[in-house]
Amino acid sequence: MKWFAAAFLTLALAACDTAGTETEAAAAGQDDTPRQLTVFSGGTIYTGLDDPKTVDSVIVENGRIVGTAPPLSEDWSEDEVTLVDLGGAVMYPGFTDAHAHLIGIGQRELIFSLEGTASIAELVSRVETELKDKAPGEVLFGSGWIETGWPEGRMPSAADLDAVSPDNPVILMRADGHALVANTAALKLADIYDIGGNPQGGRVERGEGMKATGIVIDNSMYPVLQLVPPATEEQEREAYKIGAQVYVSRGWTGMHNMNVDRYGAPIMKSLDEEGLMPLRLYNAYDENADDIARERSYETDTIRNRAMKLFVDGALGSRGALLIEPYSDRPDTSGVEILDLYTLPVLMQKAEKEGVQLAIHAIGDLANRRILDAYEELGYGPDLRWRIEHAQVLASEDIARVGELGLIASMQPSHAIGDLKFAPARLGMDRLGGAYAWKSLIDSGAIVAGGSDAPVEVGSPLIEFYAAVARKDLEGNSGEGWHPEEALSREEALKLFTSNAAYAAFMEDELGTIEAGKLADFTVFDRDLLTVPEAEILDAQPVMTVVQGEIVWRAGD
Ligand SMILES: [Zn+2]
Repeated sequence: MKWFAAAFLTLALAACDTAGTETEAAAAGQDDTPRQLTVFSGGTIYTGLDDPKTVDSVIVENGRIVGTAPPLSEDWSEDEVTLVDLGGAVMYPGFTDAHAHLIGIGQRELIFSLEGTASIAELVSRVETELKDKAPGEVLFGSGWIETGWPEGRMPSAADLDAVSPDNPVILMRADGHALVANTAALKLADIYDIGGNPQGGRVERGEGMKATGIVIDNSMYPVLQLVPPATEEQEREAYKIGAQVYVSRGWTGMHNMNVDRYGAPIMKSLDEEGLMPLRLYNAYDENADDIARERSYETDTIRNRAMKLFVDGALGSRGALLIEPYSDRPDTSGVEILDLYTLPVLMQKAEKEGVQLAIHAIGDLANRRILDAYEELGYGPDLRWRIEHAQVLASEDIARVGELGLIASMQPSHAIGDLKFAPARLGMDRLGGAYAWKSLIDSGAIVAGGSDAPVEVGSPLIEFYAAVARKDLEGNSGEGWHPEEALSREEALKLFTSNAAYAAFMEDELGTIEAGKLADFTVFDRDLLTVPEAEILDAQPVMTVVQGEIVWRAGD
């Protein structure tokens, strides 16, 4: 009974460690009802701790880790223990995507997707094909294009789309969700074709005779998007469900789900109650659904609602990021101010009073500085755990302030390797020193949580991990101004998606490492991300995804 003794010993320790949480395991241990233990073993198991770095097996009961043990002896009772053989694969604390959009990930599987489109010519021909199924006048909506690397060297225009669709309105969202291209029929219906002026936080690109050219940015997109028939509740439900299935199949156990609207809360809850929401969710709601974050309504054992998302600016690619100095490739603009200087602190005070965690989108150096200034001015500190989403471009003198003030930088490594193709043009070489500067942020004491921003990016834990440690594109190339010294060690990168993501969700006592007392969320890949050659990281395959002790996805099932 050597092994069982070890298990019970660690179990007893677990019960002490987690005083105040419901360790049903401890209760079960006190009477004679048979235990229901699941033991994961037969592979390398990284704990995410410094000591021990690895363990040989992990014992789980009722969704929690009740112990980690040395190699198993033969002495276990078959009716009490389910053995899960890792088959030589490598287990990690569950990978959490600290910034993604669940409904968008599902919708990407369901709607007209322009992902992977390699030129304007291809975009136009895909639109032409798609229109064959549309009735006259019916709106065609698609998304996912990005002009990086296109031979035409520009964004698509209304004129490109008019050539194949003079009558049906066509609206195509850029992959970042911060810009769209519309044809003339859509621009006219939205009443922005030849009417000037830009709303706060938006821009309509205009050409000859001040006519709209098709590119519409940030807040100016609303009248255009109103032409798209809203998704039905059934379609939204389907999108949430499919998004979660896709995610666990890639090895994610959790997501910090950004920009959730109020309709999403009951949908996610009911999916979870029906056993159709395998992913652990930490939701950040739109500003007009802040009551859900305040009251923490619609929560379940795997869904938490306590954050709200705000936007200070737009995105770098569409020149919506708010910069201190003008864009290097467009000196007439410094970006788009979505939230003005005076409203930001007012919203901060409201959130602080209501106990709502803020997740504030800031890309440009001025947007980031405004958050730091307001946070400092209001005297806030690390206890609030407010997050800067993206923290993409920082003035060098602002980098240390993030950690000093105790703000969390929620960053997306794949953005760097995608954006660094156009960032040198937008920003110039000097400003790149503070761009995607995750290593400098960590070294100066900031907590950096890692995410993907899917569906803007693919949403793969392996791509994000690779981008964080390699800081090269997927073909292994990098360029001038990419700052290879900002690459992370493997251990640091693992923390981005495990313990740091847990901290950013107030869940470091429950998640982020494999140790007794914590929830049993595990990611299993077929190889060792901490030791394989850099290029091989991208060849790894997910093997198994475990959320709260349950195998929610397994390769080959
Ligand atoms: Zn996002």
